[in-house]
Amino acid sequence: MRYGFGIDVGGTTVKLAFFDETGFMLDKWDIPTNTENNGTQILPDIADSVKNYLNKNDIASESILGLGIGVPGPVNGKGVVNKCINLGWGVFNIAETLSDLTGFPVKAGNDANVAALGEFWKGGGAGYENMVFVTLGTGVGGGIVIGGNLLHGSHGSGAEIGHMVLNPTETIPCNCGKFGCVEQYCSATGIARLAREYLAVYADDSSLRTVANIAAKDVFDAAKSGDAAAKEILNKFYDYMGQFLGSLCSAVDPEVVVLGGGVSKAGQVLLDGVEESFHKYVFHAASGAKFALASLFNDAGAYGAFKLALDAFGKLRR
Ligand code: ZN
Repeated sequence: MRYGFGIDVGGTTVKLAFFDETGFMLDKWDIPTNTENNGTQILPDIADSVKNYLNKNDIASESILGLGIGVPGPVNGKGVVNKCINLGWGVFNIAETLSDLTGFPVKAGNDANVAALGEFWKGGGAGYENMVFVTLGTGVGGGIVIGGNLLHGSHGSGAEIGHMVLNPTETIPCNCGKFGCVEQYCSATGIARLAREYLAVYADDSSLRTVANIAAKDVFDAAKSGDAAAKEILNKFYDYMGQFLGSLCSAVDPEVVVLGGGVSKAGQVLLDGVEESFHKYVFHAASGAKFALASLFNDAGAYGAFKLALDAFGKLRR
């Protein structure tokens, strides 16, 4: 049996996990992300953590097939990172750098795409060939798998679906600097914004008026207990989701759309609302897509990162 690591680099913690070659997660742990000095210590810290783990558990380095790593920024097929703003990173080859530090082969990818690969392999997309994965969190990210292969794109920025434009007349800028992106309406922050705007325009009673800092969860909770305003706010959100996924799936024609991220904790009601609206917008031949919830949550990135390494190095024999 051979083994490997799946590593998911976030802005505050780095998640590491140790897998066997069947994809069974044997162990997982976190280390802090040290973003001082433009993040120069992040990869050495990861390399130390990997080496310490192998030493502590008396695991021979010959049994390690490789490392996979997901990072919050674009990564091209050669492993070159093109700026991770959160981490302070510029442009460099992360695969070569981490390989030099550890002595193991490394495959790298964008974190959202890597999480999509994890869900495709072991989560909500398992058993399918073609999947669209959408994370509805603070922002909107995702990944696309076609014929079992992750879409990386030509510049390492494939499936930046949160920045597809839904509303060209938007006057407030998105985090990316453009106007009217999907994530301005479909993220958790987007739902909170739709709620604030609704309550400012309409005068009807709503339990949400007593909530100090409305979050997406408050809107789902209020709708669940019958609040009519909350239901209207969610209908607006579902309409945006329907336009977004209807257009995307008309292009991709997936078997399954997997929804993850904090908003997906709303569960079945989210799937039902999105699916109904989706059918209003999708091209008829692509309307058979199923909807499912993500199931790996915070571990999706580690699973996907290890799968990158397994696909790249799993068949190589030393
Ligand atoms: Zn944007």
